[in-house]
Amino acid sequence: MYEGVNASEGIGIGTVAVAVEPDLTFTPHAVEDAAAEKARFKAALEVFCKKTEAQAEHMKTSVGEAEAEIMSGHVTLAQDPELTGAIEASIDGGTCAEQALVETSTMFENMFLSMDDEVFRLRAADIADIRTGILAELLGREVVDLSVLPAGTIIVVHDLTPSMTATIDKANVAGIVTETGGRTSHSAIIARALEIPAVLSVSNACGALHNGMTAIVDGSMGVVIGEPDEETLADYTERAEQFAAEKRALEAFRGKPSVTADGIAKVLACNIGSPDDVNGALDHDAEAIGLFRSEFLFMDAKELPSEEEQFEAYRKVAVAMKGAPVIIRTLDVGGDKEIPYMNLQKEENPFMGYRAIRYCLDNPDEYKVQLRALLRASAFGDIKIMVPLVTCVEEIRAVKKLVEECKAELREEGRTFNDNIQVGIMMETAAAANIPDLLAKESAFFSIGTNDLTGYTMASDRGNDRVAYLYSWYYPAVLRAIKNIIEAGVRAGIMVGMCGEAAADPLLTPLLIAWGMEEFSTSAPSILRTRKAISQWTKAEADELAAKVLELSTAEEVKALLEANAR
Ligand code: PEP
Ligand code: MG
Repeated sequence: MYEGVNASEGIGIGTVAVAVEPDLTFTPHAVEDAAAEKARFKAALEVFCKKTEAQAEHMKTSVGEAEAEIMSGHVTLAQDPELTGAIEASIDGGTCAEQALVETSTMFENMFLSMDDEVFRLRAADIADIRTGILAELLGREVVDLSVLPAGTIIVVHDLTPSMTATIDKANVAGIVTETGGRTSHSAIIARALEIPAVLSVSNACGALHNGMTAIVDGSMGVVIGEPDEETLADYTERAEQFAAEKRALEAFRGKPSVTADGIAKVLACNIGSPDDVNGALDHDAEAIGLFRSEFLFMDAKELPSEEEQFEAYRKVAVAMKGAPVIIRTLDVGGDKEIPYMNLQKEENPFMGYRAIRYCLDNPDEYKVQLRALLRASAFGDIKIMVPLVTCVEEIRAVKKLVEECKAELREEGRTFNDNIQVGIMMETAAAANIPDLLAKESAFFSIGTNDLTGYTMASDRGNDRVAYLYSWYYPAVLRAIKNIIEAGVRAGIMVGMCGEAAADPLLTPLLIAWGMEEFSTSAPSILRTRKAISQWTKAEADELAAKVLELSTAEEVKALLEANAR
């Protein structure tokens, strides 16, 4: 049994596929029979093309036509006579197939990279993918492909990156195990959005679990079991059924209003990472989008998405939500959110460094592309702009100034947008928690980002297992920060919501009701459970419990009292 972080609930039972980056190192060898070496290259090329075609065919239904077309494009490019001709000529000159492939493809890659046209520059990345694929065939090494997996696969991977998840064949994945990441890491957020049980930070998972092994992933408890005996398997099969039954029972809350037991209305919103996630949000009965993490658009791209691309993405969500509020957070880059092509310098202390709104305000021309796209999309629904990592009034003022500049430009161009678009703040730094009254004067709304707020308040890195014991919102320091923010927002008459993971913690629900929070924004699968939790408390009951909690000194005492009063 291996323990890790319970990152995405549910129980998955299936067969392990370890997705390790293949070792593609080789020692070049002399070629005596060039014809035989060329035949070897052609055979590898053929297998690569066949596999890629099959993958593209499968992706049409599992991922989407556009992604499938990219894969088919790889086949055409790999068979390009200019490329294959140059490789064969190199083999004729005495170079082995591996070396000829690497040298020639790198030359083509560099050529594409040096071109001004974006379409050609994207080709460079395609060439690199093709090189990896053919080289793996030549060397007889396996590249695990997450887009074509047999049903019931447990993916075991060092780290689940956004680009990997773009191709994941969700229907066939029973569970995910990674070697890195905490509950609020992006791997966890992605796994929850995909509703796949996941356990993260299992040390040496890629070594301990082997391809073909049966495994159980208990994403609720944070446990992975390899080769379970019959008794354990039966036990977990029953638990999986129970989990499914509880999920079915929550269906009673579908279509119901989100109200406390004494009828105070709340808003149940959803956190999303891509325009397509809006379908999951609606499937789970979300009333609004409380957080669209726009950085995923940037992470999944090969270069900065254009105004047009961003506009389409935001418009799609606004239209799908049919006039319900859609809070879109502007680019939250840096910290644990790396975007390779932006080439940000490595920093000693990235969580306190050049990131999020700091980066955006330092690059106003880039930022204005996003603000213009958001404004243009605001003509299609109730889009609100949210600014991440705010620490001072100056930042929100600077953003609002840029928004006004963009409005003036758009007006000049005769474009339509919502002139009254709201600009609000992620309340996720210790600084913001200390000046909520000052920030409330400048903001249309607050959304509490407890994932970061917990980290910055407790000075505990959210991805560092060794200080994980301090990373908890049950500490009085974090609870007081949350209370201060909510109460200051309520006093100022602005909407206060929460989009950090704590919004989905039913133990906290009575406290958030007591302090007057309006919007709960959670991952899609937590919506109905949170609606149920809200329905179980009256304001008076919540107030009574909150008063007792505020008298406690330690996280342990707080959690124990909340658990003792759980409904
Ligand atoms: C947060 O910090 O709570 C939050 C919602 O944002 P993210 O997890 O993307 O940093
Ligand atoms: Mg955050």
